[in-house]
Amino acid sequence: MENKKKILIVEDEQKIARFLELELKYEGYDVEIADNGRDGLEKGKSNDVSLIILDLMLPGLSGVEVCRRIRQVSEVPIIMLTAKDDITDKVTGLNIGADDYMTKPFAVEELLARIRVLLKRKYVSNYENEAIVFEIGKLKLYKGNYRIEYDGENIDLTKKEFELLEFMVINKNIVLSREKILDKVWGYDYFGDTNIIDVYIRYLRSKIDQKYNINLIETVRGVGYIIRG
Ligand code: CA
Repeated sequence: MENKKKILIVEDEQKIARFLELELKYEGYDVEIADNGRDGLEKGKSNDVSLIILDLMLPGLSGVEVCRRIRQVSEVPIIMLTAKDDITDKVTGLNIGADDYMTKPFAVEELLARIRVLLKRKYVSNYENEAIVFEIGKLKLYKGNYRIEYDGENIDLTKKEFELLEFMVINKNIVLSREKILDKVWGYDYFGDTNIIDVYIRYLRSKIDQKYNINLIETVRGVGYIIRG
């Protein structure tokens, strides 16, 4: 039998914790719940936890403090839940070592997608240099030197092109808005507008779609882009 991955939910709002527990169990994960910061810290340090969903506002010890202390001993992926769309909280969450954050209320499908991403990344990071990260049809993405292959043929990408393609492949079958791509691939240090996304999509298309006469990256008019697979 396949080993079930255990996800720790640190959340004092019972309704949310219970809801997440049901969704995660339905997805095949084991779930453990802590309803305060101290309990979350203890359980979070345990080796059998594969990922932590960590609420920011907690009784006892704050989510920020729990995250900071877990990071001193463990690289376990952490997704922070923040109650308000506050850039300061997001920056704080990522600065103290959280891998991702979600603002409440959030769509559970999106949380599940991000969990899958982080669990895969963690898995991949255990490999030396050139592991295949993802595969869609004839397309293979390799980690390490920003290289991809199409039908066995090498395609060299720049770091940003690779990161953009990787993000889209990881989130395949999800329509990604320019804002979301900008936020996740370029990050907070980028203050230009979202036209940069269209420019890079053009680069990728000329290196992949046009070269191999395929329609890998689809435009969703008025929304953004999607890779199906
Ligand atoms: Ca809370």
